[in-house]
Amino acid sequence: MNKVYSVAIDGPAGAGKSTMARRAAAELNFVYVDTGAIYRTIAYAVLNNGILPEETDKIDALLPQLKVKLSWKDGVQHMYLNGADVSKKIRLPEVSSMASKVSALPSVRAFLLDTQRNVAKTNSVIMDGRDIGTVVLPDADVKIYLSASAEVRAKRRFLELQEQGRSDSYEDVLKDMIERDYRDMHRQVAPLKQADDAVLLDTSDLSLEDSVAALLHIIRERIDL
Ligand code: C5P
Repeated sequence: MNKVYSVAIDGPAGAGKSTMARRAAAELNFVYVDTGAIYRTIAYAVLNNGILPEETDKIDALLPQLKVKLSWKDGVQHMYLNGADVSKKIRLPEVSSMASKVSALPSVRAFLLDTQRNVAKTNSVIMDGRDIGTVVLPDADVKIYLSASAEVRAKRRFLELQEQGRSDSYEDVLKDMIERDYRDMHRQVAPLKQADDAVLLDTSDLSLEDSVAALLHIIRERIDL
């Protein structure tokens, strides 16, 4: 079997992880794995079943009934929940907020661990999330912690939502983002933090093109492709 490489990218919401990781993966011919989408899929199932985030017994009882699958079409990751493609539905802001609540549950994290690791066993991956360099792929060849100021990140997310035709205010987007980051950074299990051996890349003052170039530079310096 050919050698496979793994690049772990972690960081707060709206740091540009998915856009940049997708671009870099296409350039390097790696598979881009968006782990946030996997947590969102669980959150979507929880919402759909009318379960509240604090009803942890109900969430634990729901998990064995969920079949979560990832597949790629033309390099785009699709999420399947019990056979249905939910890739679009998991992008709603209510799903974002629920994802950051259910992802704090150890049972949910344990349920999704192998799904994430298995992809990296057989493919060279760029995987992004919150705990990829610290928990999911602690031996990743390259670890990057991607960040930007809360205001810059909220502005990017606000413009993205506007493009989708949503009318959420900038203030609401910023508030939601700050709350979500707080939950992600302060949970007991697998909190968002920079791994000791991760390279910090702050994109606050960089254009998308420059950010992608910086990301590729960090990867190529560490992996001989
Ligand atoms: O990256 P994205 O914003 O789509 O992730 C949604 C939520 O899923 C995050 O706020 C976080 O709570 C959770 N998540 C996580 N661990 C990951 C990826 C996402 O806890 N590896």
